[in-house]
Amino acid sequence: MSELHPFLEMVEAYALGSLDAEDRAAFEAHLASGCAECETALREARWLVSHLAYLAPESEPSKALKEHLISTVRAEASVLPFSAQKQKKGAVPILLWLGVAAMLLLTLSSGWNAHLLSLEVKQMRREMASEQQKREQLVKQVAVLEQDAKMRAILANPDSTRIMLLPSNRQVPSLEAKWHSQMGIVITGYQVPKLAGNHVLQLWLIPKDPSGKPMPSATFWPEKDGNLAKLVVNPPEGMVAVKALAITEEPAEGSDQPTSTPIWVGTVS
Ligand SMILES: [Zn+2]
Repeated sequence: MSELHPFLEMVEAYALGSLDAEDRAAFEAHLASGCAECETALREARWLVSHLAYLAPESEPSKALKEHLISTVRAEASVLPFSAQKQKKGAVPILLWLGVAAMLLLTLSSGWNAHLLSLEVKQMRREMASEQQKREQLVKQVAVLEQDAKMRAILANPDSTRIMLLPSNRQVPSLEAKWHSQMGIVITGYQVPKLAGNHVLQLWLIPKDPSGKPMPSATFWPEKDGNLAKLVVNPPEGMVAVKALAITEEPAEGSDQPTSTPIWVGTVS
């Protein structure tokens, strides 16, 4: 058939725009002569090319397209092994043409799928980040509530020892500590002066043993409104061995031993 009608072999190459100028002119002249067979073949080839180019990325190749490709491969395969015919000059070998088609399909669909996947991953990351944030907020809220409950328990417990923390400077209000032997110490105060820079307040336990040094404990700071409420869950020493509590102003990270005169001191009795 191709011997009888060589122009048919050019149809797909023509539709792909891969004919050289000479062949293109010859093919167009042949079309202009009104060959119905080539016209039909060209319509099919153009349909194929346009469907490859605009194929919906996620969709499967249409049935018609598949059948067309398969039948073309079969036709080619039945001819190729036995045919010594030379490929018509300028014609695109059908297997190459199929390779191009397959690559195009694959690129479109895998590229598109990768794009969709990356969008999904981004969306999921956003959702996870927001869930994580909510979770962290809840954990913080729970921690605040727990701490609040522990403080209330210490403050309300009749077994807690009340310790007045008196200021060395009369312009500073006194603080109050309540110490429960199992639950810990709560320090409360109002109108506590602001601290210089990023300084902190630090609690010290002064041992009864005269040769003992002040034992460093928690660091804390008043709220902006001057309110102070600090829970010390694990003081470094039991109440029976402690003579007094003291609070000094220290650098941000706290100190191993007091670096300034205590602002407040309270005797444990
Ligand atoms: Zn023709």
